[in-house]
Amino acid sequence: AQDALRQAQKMEAVGQLTGGIAHDFNNMLAVVMGSLDLLNRRLGPEDPRAKRYVEAAMEGAKRAASLTQRLLAFSRQQPLRPESIDANKLVSGMSDLLRHSIGADIRLETVLSGGLWRVSADPNQLESVILNLGVNARDAMPGGGKLTIETQNAHLDARYVASEMGVPAGQYVLIAITDTGEGMPPEIIAKAFDPFFTTKAVGKGTGLGLSQVYGFVKQSGGHVKIYSEVGQGTSIKIYLPRSHERDETEVAEADTVLLMGE
Ligand code: ADP
Repeated sequence: AQDALRQAQKMEAVGQLTGGIAHDFNNMLAVVMGSLDLLNRRLGPEDPRAKRYVEAAMEGAKRAASLTQRLLAFSRQQPLRPESIDANKLVSGMSDLLRHSIGADIRLETVLSGGLWRVSADPNQLESVILNLGVNARDAMPGGGKLTIETQNAHLDARYVASEMGVPAGQYVLIAITDTGEGMPPEIIAKAFDPFFTTKAVGKGTGLGLSQVYGFVKQSGGHVKIYSEVGQGTSIKIYLPRSHERDETEVAEADTVLLMGE
């Protein structure tokens, strides 16, 4: 419980700091990119080498801009816009994008439970979270493997809730993203949600993926947990609160699966 509190405080402090820096940085980048663009227009065809230099500088600036975008998203300058959404539909709608991101050596399997409750969450953020987790899974399976995305209605009961701080007992929708990759030892799991924690090479990882996932899930009133075995694979389980807005997929309680922290 103390850990969750400490994590939340750490997230907030780092979020404020990065948000401020990213914001200023973004403004400076806009100046750099604007000037490069003007320079590019001035350069005639007589000096192709100069044009290539400008293009390389532009490429670098664009990459920096995409990083600041991620920093801003992480520090939550954009507020969440929760809606009542069908997670099955959202996952199905992403399958082409996911397949493209994980490459041909990794098989994508979706196991979407029938009669799934709707969830209350920001659909754009949820997509970016699932994509993030898909990319992490890909990085953990350099030799290929299987990525499974599963949805399920879930009751978090009092016993489960007692072991985790800040989640009320009740009805959630589970979205589990599971890979058959290298897995994580306990000491990595313990740090994985920390902002800027990465085991990846410089330029490959920012260490912001999982902290963004954590921030999103917490702000959505949900819960996230990592299950992982070295050499076996990793499963990230996200519980998002059920939305009680009326919809066509209201379902018999019989479809509910009782879930405990395994
Ligand atoms: P990044 O991917 O940029 O390193 P993340 O916050 O997404 O940042 O992840 C932090 C670290 O957690 C990774 O560097 C990696 O060591 C570990 N990790 C995350 N997802 C997985 C996974 N599916 N399998 C194994 N390790 C993972």
